[in-house]
Amino acid sequence: MKRRLYIGTNTKMFQTGREAEEYIRRMDELIDDIRDRLEFFFIPSFTSLERVVRAVGERIRIGAQNMAWEDRGQFTGEVSPLMLEEIGVRFVLIGHSERRHVFGETDIMEAAKIRLAADHGFTALLCIGETAQQKESGLAAQSVLEQLKAAAGELSPEEASERLWIGYEPVWAIGTAGTPASASYAEDMHAVIRSGLVELFGEKGTEIPVLYGGSVNPSNAPEIIERNGIDGLFIGRSAWDPDRFNGIIRDVLPVFERRADR
Ligand code: PEP
Repeated sequence: MKRRLYIGTNTKMFQTGREAEEYIRRMDELIDDIRDRLEFFFIPSFTSLERVVRAVGERIRIGAQNMAWEDRGQFTGEVSPLMLEEIGVRFVLIGHSERRHVFGETDIMEAAKIRLAADHGFTALLCIGETAQQKESGLAAQSVLEQLKAAAGELSPEEASERLWIGYEPVWAIGTAGTPASASYAEDMHAVIRSGLVELFGEKGTEIPVLYGGSVNPSNAPEIIERNGIDGLFIGRSAWDPDRFNGIIRDVLPVFERRADR
């Protein structure tokens, strides 16, 4: 079977429910002829989830931007997997760099969320990535491997291969202040992450998709996806205009498929 390109976006706190619905209806039309070659996903704000799921049903994988580490409890402001399940959401982003670095989430919290997501049969997109300082100190590989092990190391190989995706997102590459990683740097770090996954989960570790994210744009996307070991792209700003995002998808898809065939 041909491998599919993993590609999707998290819209952070930028779209209202109405905007998210308009956006995803348009993306749903734009990707219609290529959807079976993609693992396409959309991660809007919590308040948009229900209407977005209603708009596109099962055609597009819809995810939450975060989740609590308990099913129920005295956790004002948190959202439980039970609440996500109830509205048809079974995909969740865990440990995005803004959760870690703006809201102070720790590896221990990410691990508890990953455990709970697996218990509910959710697919989790776990983000890991080094800071600029860790990179400059030569600690990039060590720091992503520590994050990976801390958050996902308790999963069984079966749980990991069935329900874990990794987003490699160097903190220094994300958002308006970020500079994109070079394709060769991304390739090297993906190889590090793959070796960490194999160390943790054996053969099953080879099946887990690893996506690159951080200032992906129309000009750098094809050269990044050309690189071995990069299973997909997790895109912020450059994906929020449907036509621009569709353009990126159509540019990278043939590059990815050629590479996957080699
Ligand atoms: C992100 O926030 O996960 C991200 C990849 O954003 P951007 O593409 O805008 O750098």
